[in-house]
Amino acid sequence: MKAILINKNDEGYRAELTEVEESQLPDGEVTVRVDYSTLNYKDSLAITGAAPVVRKFPMVPGIDFTGTVIESTSEEFAPGDRVVQNGWGAGEVHWGGLAQKARVKSDWLVGLPEKFSTRQGAAVGTAGYTAMLCILALERSGVTPGNGEILVTGAAGGVGSVAVSILAGLGYTVVASSGRPAEADYLKALGAAEIIDRAQLSEKGPPLGKERWAGAVDCVGSQTLVNVCATMKYGGTVAACGLAQGMDFPATVMPFILRGITLAGIDSVYCPKPLRTEAWRRIASDLDLGHLEQMTSEIGLSDVIGTASQQLAGQTRGRVVVNVNG
Ligand code: NDP
Repeated sequence: MKAILINKNDEGYRAELTEVEESQLPDGEVTVRVDYSTLNYKDSLAITGAAPVVRKFPMVPGIDFTGTVIESTSEEFAPGDRVVQNGWGAGEVHWGGLAQKARVKSDWLVGLPEKFSTRQGAAVGTAGYTAMLCILALERSGVTPGNGEILVTGAAGGVGSVAVSILAGLGYTVVASSGRPAEADYLKALGAAEIIDRAQLSEKGPPLGKERWAGAVDCVGSQTLVNVCATMKYGGTVAACGLAQGMDFPATVMPFILRGITLAGIDSVYCPKPLRTEAWRRIASDLDLGHLEQMTSEIGLSDVIGTASQQLAGQTRGRVVVNVNG
């Protein structure tokens, strides 16, 4: 089968498209014929070696995939079932989805909601499911459309695009922060009420600024997350999931102790199964499939390595699905 394989040895760190034997697939109860994987920011870090995402070599990257079960020793899944995998160390410590087949633990899989084709399920992918985890965190914190504007940072990326679309569909007034003015029409078509330049948030600012946001989905981290916290309305909540600007968080406690804001951390990788299943159920009910198509581009396995560098340079828009058989 065809796969992207990452090796690290005396010659360095190298990702290549190659043939691997099915017998090399790792242990697991369920073997899946993969239809689509996707390119998430983390996959691009893994493929380029820009961050130490991969912790075992050789490694097939790909933190997510959709496909059909072809063999199973689990009672939960039978051949023919359509499934989606997100995280659980796939592409990091266990071979992932950028291959024509994958073998994983049954606990890691979620049945793909009926509403989605395997392409659409992959278009949602880890980024979309993470966007929904962020929205669920805002809801748990009591943020409602009546509370005021919601900020989404890194808006033209994968998590950001899905968050903008779903939040707008739920009736929130969404302000999209983006470094790409050329994507303003795209973001408005997804439902953003206003676009702001990400430069307004990326430089060091005062510990507290003018209160503006009732809630926020932050894909960017670093100084941007600090400034988002500093401009939250009293009692607001930020769902923090990303580090596209950086993994540092040079903040003060002022927004927490003077405005009672909440910083909700979002992890998609080891998120417990009941919450994942709930997130996928809500995506199926709340995501506009027309928007999903608008934010999706498709590549083949042979395009993956080149596209990974583009993604880290902030040049990919929305979701990039990988047709592993194309
Ligand atoms: P994408 O690459 O699709 O989107 C990232 C976006 O961030 C870019 O499109 C760009 O948006 C913005 N951006 C890029 N570089 C910078 C920068 N230097 N400063 C400020 N903004 C920047 O990635 P994903 O949507 O897949 O992931 C977004 C983030 O969320 C990543 O950091 C990823 O690691 C993280 N993530 C975390 C998960 C978790 O479980 N916690 C799960 C999934 C993702 P624009 O051009 O609009 O400014």
